[in-house]
Amino acid sequence: MFCHNSKNKIFDCKKPQVFRMTITSISIYRLSIPMVPFTIATGTMNFAQNLFIRIHTNLGLTGVGECSAFPMIAGETQDTCFVLAKDFAGLWKGKDASEIEDRLQELDWFIAGNHTVKSAFDMALLDLAAKAKEVPLYEYLGGHYFEPESDITIGIDTAEKMAHRAKELVNHRQVKYLKIKLGKKPEDDIKRLFSIKEAVGSGIKLRIDANQGWDYEGAVMALTAMEDLDIEFCEQPLHKRFDEKMPALRRISKVPLMADESVFDHYDAEKLIRLKACDYINIKLSKAGGIMEALKIHDVCAHAEIPNMLGGMLESRLALSAKVHLALACPNIHFYDLDTCLLGHKEDPVINGVVFENMKLKTPKIPGIGADIDDAWLEKCEKVHV
Ligand code: MG
Repeated sequence: MFCHNSKNKIFDCKKPQVFRMTITSISIYRLSIPMVPFTIATGTMNFAQNLFIRIHTNLGLTGVGECSAFPMIAGETQDTCFVLAKDFAGLWKGKDASEIEDRLQELDWFIAGNHTVKSAFDMALLDLAAKAKEVPLYEYLGGHYFEPESDITIGIDTAEKMAHRAKELVNHRQVKYLKIKLGKKPEDDIKRLFSIKEAVGSGIKLRIDANQGWDYEGAVMALTAMEDLDIEFCEQPLHKRFDEKMPALRRISKVPLMADESVFDHYDAEKLIRLKACDYINIKLSKAGGIMEALKIHDVCAHAEIPNMLGGMLESRLALSAKVHLALACPNIHFYDLDTCLLGHKEDPVINGVVFENMKLKTPKIPGIGADIDDAWLEKCEKVHV
């Protein structure tokens, strides 16, 4: 079965490697990264609730994976991820890591949903597969090297503080794309956006994200008031339970609409596309359940000519690296929201991996994801070996 039909070469994910790669054990770590509190419409995160795994094999190769639980969006916590990871590890022990689709199917049969924790396991299998072929993950996925440029996100605060932060980012980090979190009272959100626009001027591209925070009338009010501010798009103006109202909002709004929380997997993407509900769709590994499903969403959207953004939660540079590899293999991804670890992480436990040059991301050309977590850092984490 060919899984991904980009313009580049196609990789065959069903075909096992020429040799069996038996999973001998899996190590699971709570990767709690201290953070400056980060606020969106639905709540505040005080630390990054991440989970890190290492899959060990009989060939001596180790695959790494990370996920970032964001309870208010995906419905999982670091605790639920940790508990399920132990079950998943038990299911996989002794099995072939190169049979990627079979392994992922086992997780879906074991428990529905829980896409965030599943994404860490998917990532580790793909890291192993690329390492076994001795190529960077983007090459394994059929991509080619370039340096995507990310936006950076400003969390919700007073209009004055958000405008100050916007100016600071533009001046000190040469940011070209600002993503502004909104989704509170529309009147206040309008003030926030006008203050930011005044602070940064016309050369900066603004993206806004309501994180499901507006009702239909509020969204009409906010989007109409902001229509001359040259906004690239508005993410998820309405709660996902109101998807059927999106086509009407899209007809009224001059600001293009992007679905985020409404689309977890490619079935959701197909539904939104059928409804003509959005102009763009945001892919996240923590919603999709990993790279394999992300590729399916990408292909569905490419076929419908709905461009994608690649986003994330609060991942470290390890999962960020995996996402950049994915971006390099997905020509329908036009927007990059890859600032996860810049959103107030106070520590960086990652060895190697992608690095930022201002907001451009440079990917290491080494086999697999090309990143790992520092063993000394892992010493202080709660861990279990299965
Ligand atoms: Mg969003």
